[in-house]
Amino acid sequence: METNVNFLGLGIGESLNDALSRYGITAPSPVQEQSIPLILEGRDVLAQSQTGSGKTLAYLLPILEKINPEQKEMQALILAPTQELAMQIVRECERYGEEKGITSLGLIGGAAIKRQIEKLRRHPHIAVGTPGRINELINVRKLKMHNVSTIVVDEVDQVLGLGGGSDVQRIIKSAKRDRQLVFLSATINEEIHSIAQREMNDHAIVGIEPGQHTASAIDHVYFVTEERDKVDTLRRVLRHYKAPRSIVFVNDTEQIAEVESKLEYMGFRARAIYGDADKVTRSTVLAQFRSGKLQVLVATDVAARGLDIEDLNLVVSLDPAFDAEFYVHRSGRTGRMGKKGVSASIITERERFIMRKFSDTLHISLKELVLESGEARTASPAKPRSKKPVVRNDKPVGDQAINSNGAGLGNANTAASSNQGQTNGFRTQEHTSSEAPARRPATGKAAPTKRDGKAKVRKADQKSKGAPKWLKAKRNGASDEK
Ligand code: AMP
Repeated sequence: METNVNFLGLGIGESLNDALSRYGITAPSPVQEQSIPLILEGRDVLAQSQTGSGKTLAYLLPILEKINPEQKEMQALILAPTQELAMQIVRECERYGEEKGITSLGLIGGAAIKRQIEKLRRHPHIAVGTPGRINELINVRKLKMHNVSTIVVDEVDQVLGLGGGSDVQRIIKSAKRDRQLVFLSATINEEIHSIAQREMNDHAIVGIEPGQHTASAIDHVYFVTEERDKVDTLRRVLRHYKAPRSIVFVNDTEQIAEVESKLEYMGFRARAIYGDADKVTRSTVLAQFRSGKLQVLVATDVAARGLDIEDLNLVVSLDPAFDAEFYVHRSGRTGRMGKKGVSASIITERERFIMRKFSDTLHISLKELVLESGEARTASPAKPRSKKPVVRNDKPVGDQAINSNGAGLGNANTAASSNQGQTNGFRTQEHTSSEAPARRPATGKAAPTKRDGKAKVRKADQKSKGAPKWLKAKRNGASDEK
């Protein structure tokens, strides 16, 4: 991931460069190399960048470079979809801005607005926040936009998906006409392109190589099981990889507490993070996870979006991600900055097509592994699609058995990285982009058959209960496709 160019060569000054070196950051990542000179130049930028590729510093470094610390006014505004991501960005602002005397303030929903207003009186140079709260503060004229020269929207697709689009538009409108706009996300769709076209001025597009949507250091694997055995398979996957830290994604918000307690019962230090939990609970759980007190974080897509957890080697989808875009964001929590990571999905036989779809859409190799007698291997080499569910000899294997085979994270990586049918005791079956496309777009739900039609509808209704608006819309959209 490193290049020959250094930060000084991109226009970053000595003091920031020194601060970066102190944190072991010496060579810019590709997105930084491309974006930093453009943002320093004052260009509007739309950057599509792999998650974990260093995109926060790609916009933050030029912002810190351009801010005049003597001018006690807000000069840059950064919008993020979630409270956690916003606070994560604030931490980076503090880490690198301190040396230059640049101050920043987090303005997130769920926190006391009164305290935020008090802190705004100290005129921080950078505000980082969620669109709803920022808009509220602008409306009550406590957040002054007249000196804001750069507005960044991080994870712009999620900001829009969560209904923050109108807030973002109002915020942009409240700034001066010649403000610089920077949009970043791992996934950029047509809607974002057209908003960029409308709001930006002769914007530069910083892209990734076509097809390279996820960090290449991630091994994408999946395990096929019966629906009722998913949690038990999860247990064995977690034991197998022995990852000190992992995130387990759950599709159904109502299922999250159950998964949390089952994992705790199985002996894992696990806690759940809910999108609608209060701020204190969410930050306590995250702090425990970051510090290593927790092994497993059970999360929904919304709650975990954009989180940067150091040394997170394993991400497990207890159900397949809703679509390829969601898959990118889930697996992007691991394999950050070129580090190794595993993204594992636990699926039923009927959800196999979703893996094929992800493989086709994202041009990644997804390998089926089976945990058997303490080893990760495929049940059989590529076999024709069968209508009957395959019954696997998937008896739980003990920790000991996995240990004795040395099938920890490193070994599984080696196996899964290989394109061969069998390596180092692991046999892998791959879905690659050359395979037949899925019958319909992957929505994260298998197409119901006549046999289970009614039950499926009941289950879908039940699933949508209490789900966030965007998720319901997504699910309804999925059923409309039929
Ligand atoms: P991000 O994609 O912004 O969430 O960054 C992912 C992680 O990579 C963060 O922990 C950063 O501190 C780290 N990072 C960012 N840029 C670099 C770099 N050029 N070299 C090494 N690590 C970096």
